[in-house]
Amino acid sequence: MKVVVLGAGIIGVSTAWHLLQRGHEVTLVDRQDDAALETSFANAAQISVSYCEPWANREAPLKALKWMFSATSPLLFRPQLDPAQWRWGLQFLGQCNDAAFERNVAQLVALGSYSHAALKDVVAQTGIEYQRLERGIAHYYSDQKSFDGAADAAAVMQKFGVKRHVIDRAELLRVEPALSAFADRIVGGTYTPSDESGDARVFTQQLAALCGKAGAQLLFGHDIERLETEAGEVRQVRVRDRHTGQASALQADAYVVACGSYTTPLLKSVGVRVPIYPGKGYSATLPLLQPDRAPQVSMIDDQLKIAMSRLGNQLRVAGTIELGGFDLALDTPLAKKRCAMLVKRIEEVFPGVADTRTPEEGGDPQFWTGLRPATPTNIPLIGRTRIGKLWINAGHGTLGWTHGAGSGKALAELISGEVPAMDFGFTGMPGGSQRRASAAPLASQRA
Ligand SMILES: Cc1cc2nc3c(=O)[nH]c(=O)nc-3n(C[C@H](O)[C@H](O)[C@H](O)COP(=O)(O)OP(=O)(O)OC[C@H]3O[C@@H](n4cnc5c(N)ncnc54)[C@H](O)[C@@H]3O)c2cc1C
Repeated sequence: MKVVVLGAGIIGVSTAWHLLQRGHEVTLVDRQDDAALETSFANAAQISVSYCEPWANREAPLKALKWMFSATSPLLFRPQLDPAQWRWGLQFLGQCNDAAFERNVAQLVALGSYSHAALKDVVAQTGIEYQRLERGIAHYYSDQKSFDGAADAAAVMQKFGVKRHVIDRAELLRVEPALSAFADRIVGGTYTPSDESGDARVFTQQLAALCGKAGAQLLFGHDIERLETEAGEVRQVRVRDRHTGQASALQADAYVVACGSYTTPLLKSVGVRVPIYPGKGYSATLPLLQPDRAPQVSMIDDQLKIAMSRLGNQLRVAGTIELGGFDLALDTPLAKKRCAMLVKRIEEVFPGVADTRTPEEGGDPQFWTGLRPATPTNIPLIGRTRIGKLWINAGHGTLGWTHGAGSGKALAELISGEVPAMDFGFTGMPGGSQRRASAAPLASQRA
């Protein structure tokens, strides 16, 4: 089969790879000059199968309301004159109850486990190196009340087979001695030994290069202008070379839209509405000054809801979510405050370990922002759309790196007529597992 994959982030590249493995002829298109130059570029690097709770829970609406007035809050709703944002917000509110939370967790864990196995297979098969650390993820708390709730959260996850251990401060310091300078602020934590970390950009770019070697046509530097349909199916996709301005049309037996947050406008143009809205986040990547004192275990800071991962001789810190449209600015007062907050926390938790000086002070922090393709459930849309030959693999929100390998494999299997071995509600697919899909993405997939 001839398949055109639109978008070369972790999701599109992984889809392309698994399609090639099944003998398909693949064209991979992206507007950037390489893979992973948008949201998959500098994320928090966590393969976080065991910390996959959706944002929507019973307490989220009240917290979001409180956080609306703080520039450094973990989640910031910035109201826009955009019906899509309000629709998304209402669907999100509809997920803020215990039943929806548990239903969503079940699917996220299923996809996470499937994906972790798929990632290990790809690494074993290709030998890709990407600063991988198989040291688990530790979540530390500096507030007793929040730590008291950690056991309940761990119990919910354990119900779904996730091994999340609640540990005291002494145990946490044994797991990650680099936390010692911050120890008197820590009240305890949780630890998931099977999780890992690694550089999503490096992995994705190397996998894209291997796709090229395996025969895929890599059309980088090409804008996807529009999908053209005829008699209820895609007839062709129009692309334009950004460097030469030359337009061309691609025809195939199947088209996969894996354009992250930009999936929404592209599909809307052919009458398919999907509840994917951009959730802006930031990261800072800092050179290490004292590698021996730097953490090896990836971290979650409960108070600020940020994540930290060691990537070779660098430390990455990332987090915060702003729901305010397709805004990628790094130079606004709000963006600067959020970036400064990330770096400040690194200095507090690991004093002297990384170079946290500002550029004005002679430092070289690499700031970045990306738009998480967020659904109200946190569950991605993987499967068919109602337009013939048109498939979707998008909406991975906070977990696209974690779920990338498995999402790519699953969609390649579906396109090949296989049934992925996981209990997950694939969009638009007939059969039992569809019932398990959360109502929002399926119901709203109508024009
Ligand atoms: C701050 C932050 C921290 C994160 N931390 C983690 C983490 O620790 N673990 C984890 O699992 N996930 C994490 N994520 C989430 C993860 O990075 C995303 O879910 C993932 O990168 C999404 O991948 P994607 O392939 O869907 O989108 P993208 O990487 O954005 O890929 C989409 C591609 O489509 C292309 N495209 C879009 N529109 C067009 C067009 N019209 N023409 C041509 N090309 C187009 C873009 O150029 C892009 O390359 C984090 C995200 C952020 C922002």
